Amino acid sequence: MTFVDLHLHGAFGVDLVTAEAADLDKLALGLAAHGYDAFLPTLVPLRPDALDRVADRLGTWMRGRRSNDGRGALPLGVHFEGPFVSPARSGALHPDCLADANDANAVRRFFATFERFPGTPMVTLAPEIPGGLELVAEFRRRKALVSIGHTDATFAQLEAAYVAGARHMTHWCNAMRPLHHREPGPIAFGLLHREISIDVIADGHHLDPRMLELAARAKHEDRLVLISDAMPAAGLADGTYEVWGEPLTVRDGAARNASGALAGSTALLDRQIGVLADCGAGIDRARHAATIAPLRALERARAD
Ligand SMILES: [Zn+2]
Repeated sequence: MTFVDLHLHGAFGVDLVTAEAADLDKLALGLAAHGYDAFLPTLVPLRPDALDRVADRLGTWMRGRRSNDGRGALPLGVHFEGPFVSPARSGALHPDCLADANDANAVRRFFATFERFPGTPMVTLAPEIPGGLELVAEFRRRKALVSIGHTDATFAQLEAAYVAGARHMTHWCNAMRPLHHREPGPIAFGLLHREISIDVIADGHHLDPRMLELAARAKHEDRLVLISDAMPAAGLADGTYEVWGEPLTVRDGAARNASGALAGSTALLDRQIGVLADCGAGIDRARHAATIAPLRALERARAD
């Protein structure tokens, strides 16, 4: 298999926020053993000094891994899940680490660190926050795949985000404003917009199988992407783990924080394709969503 995962925070006990080079090698080899060709190391919002330290370790390691040389799955670029997201939809992201898009100093400091990571970047942001649309355009100028997520946006705000350059949606349905018949919001936008690709977590916990079926019916095959959203305990047994400064409990494969919110998944893509296939997508379609479709999404970030 040649999986490409746009959203992975860690696995096998390796946390990308704290990982040293040896840990990152272990992660890359472990992912390859699960059929992975490539992935986007995904970062939750961090304080600026902590993000700088990640750039030292992870950024340096990524620059040494520019070809598929038998040392495991290849990092294609960093996915920044935040910090420019909606406080109302932050989910398991640390609310203290979210950033204000109108704070020129914070934005300048973020981009200085952002530029220290090689490859094709991806960013998950909420376009409706003050200054959000300008940020969409700024990330596009820097050739990032701009993905709408952790958002409370209305349909009209999402249309404006598309015009500004957003082309993808992060874990469609999770951490976004729910569907309402007079304000269809992000869920309907993701299904209806032909140019927008959406990614989904098919771990049996994040989405009801009928929502996966709905996504598979509505979207063109290149516009439906499977992601793991794997957290560091992926690939380990059930138990309690210290992740991102708080205890997360994994039970029956579902990782939750103290308030009960789902905090990433523990299922890598090799387990998820079966779930998506069984929801009516079929195995060929599910495989496409985990291999070709994520690459198409990244190609579009480089193209227009
Ligand atoms: Zn995530």
